[in-house]
Amino acid sequence: MASRVIGVIGAGTMGTGIAQLAAQQGFDAIVRDVDEELVSDGLDRLRNDLAEAEERDIVDDADTVFDRVTGTTDLDDVVERATFVVEAVPEDTDLKRTIFEELDAKTDPDVVLGSNTSSLSITEIASATEHPERVIGTHFFNPPVKMKLLELVTGHHTSDETLARAEELAEALGREHIVVDDFPGFATSRLGLVLGMEAARMVQEGVASAEDIDTAMELGYNHPMGPLKLGDHNGWDTRVKVGEYMAEELGSDAYRPPQLVKQMVRAGDYGVKSGRGFYDWDED
Ligand code: NAD
Repeated sequence: MASRVIGVIGAGTMGTGIAQLAAQQGFDAIVRDVDEELVSDGLDRLRNDLAEAEERDIVDDADTVFDRVTGTTDLDDVVERATFVVEAVPEDTDLKRTIFEELDAKTDPDVVLGSNTSSLSITEIASATEHPERVIGTHFFNPPVKMKLLELVTGHHTSDETLARAEELAEALGREHIVVDDFPGFATSRLGLVLGMEAARMVQEGVASAEDIDTAMELGYNHPMGPLKLGDHNGWDTRVKVGEYMAEELGSDAYRPPQLVKQMVRAGDYGVKSGRGFYDWDED
C-alpha cells in the first residue's frame, strides 16, 4: 500500500481499537473525536490496552506503537495525511452521511472512505458524497486487535478499485476478509443480533439467568462467548440502534430490543464500557 497512514473518525470503543490494530501493524493512525476529553479518554484506553499487550508479549514495545497514534479534534489533521479513512461514529445514518459529505469534500478522490457501520446501508451513506465509488463498508469486530474478521460491504456504486484497496488493507492489517453485498446487517449482524436479542428476551421472561444462558451457548453450542456477555462487550446502546434499524428494514421482530434492554440503556448500563450490563464489569 502506497502510504501507511490511516484516519479514524471517532475515538470510542471501535475507533481506538482500529487505531490500535493499525499501529500494531506498523501504520500511523490519526484519530478524530469531537472534543479534547473524548480524544484523550480514547488515547488513554489505547495506551492501557497496549501496556497490557506488552505484558502478555503480544507487542514488543508499547511506547513505540503508541507513538504512531495521534489524536485530534480537527478533521483537517486527518484529511491532510490519511489515504484510507475509517469512520467509527455512533450507528446513525444521518450522522454518518454528514461526516462522509465532509470527508468527500475535503479529501482527494483517491482516498478510500470506509464505514465501520454494523448494519446501516453503505449505499445510503455513500449517496451523501460526490464520489460514492470510493465508499465501502469496513466492518471490524470488537476488539479489532483480537477479532480476525474484516467484513467488506460493497454499496451500489462501490468500485472494483475501492474493493481492491480495502482488500489490500485487510491483508496489511492481518485480517481475514469476506465480501458482502449491501443488505441490512450484512452477513454478521444479521445472525448475531437475533441471538443477542433473543437471549435478552429470555432473561426478561425469567427462562434462566444471564450466566446460565451464556453457559448454555458456550458449553452446549461451543460458542467462545455467550450472547449476553458478547453484547456487554459490544455495548447495548449500539446494539439497540442496530436492532431497531434491522427490525424496520427486514420487517422482523426478532431484531427488536426487548424492554429490559431498552431500560438498561436508558439507565446507562451499556455493558463493559459503562461498568455494568448483564454483568458487573467493575475493575475488580
Ligand atoms: P462509541 O459510542 O463507543 O464511539 C463513537 C465515538 O464517535 C464517540 O467517542 C463519539 O464521541 C464519536 N463521535 C460522534 N460524532 C463524531 C464526529 N462527528 N466526529 C468524530 N467523532 C464523533 O461507538 P462504537 O461502539 O465504537 O461504534 C462505532 C461504530 O462501529 C458504530 O457504527 C457501530 O455500529 C460499529 N461497530 C461497533 C462494534 C462494537 O462492538 N461496539 C462492533 C462493530 C461495529
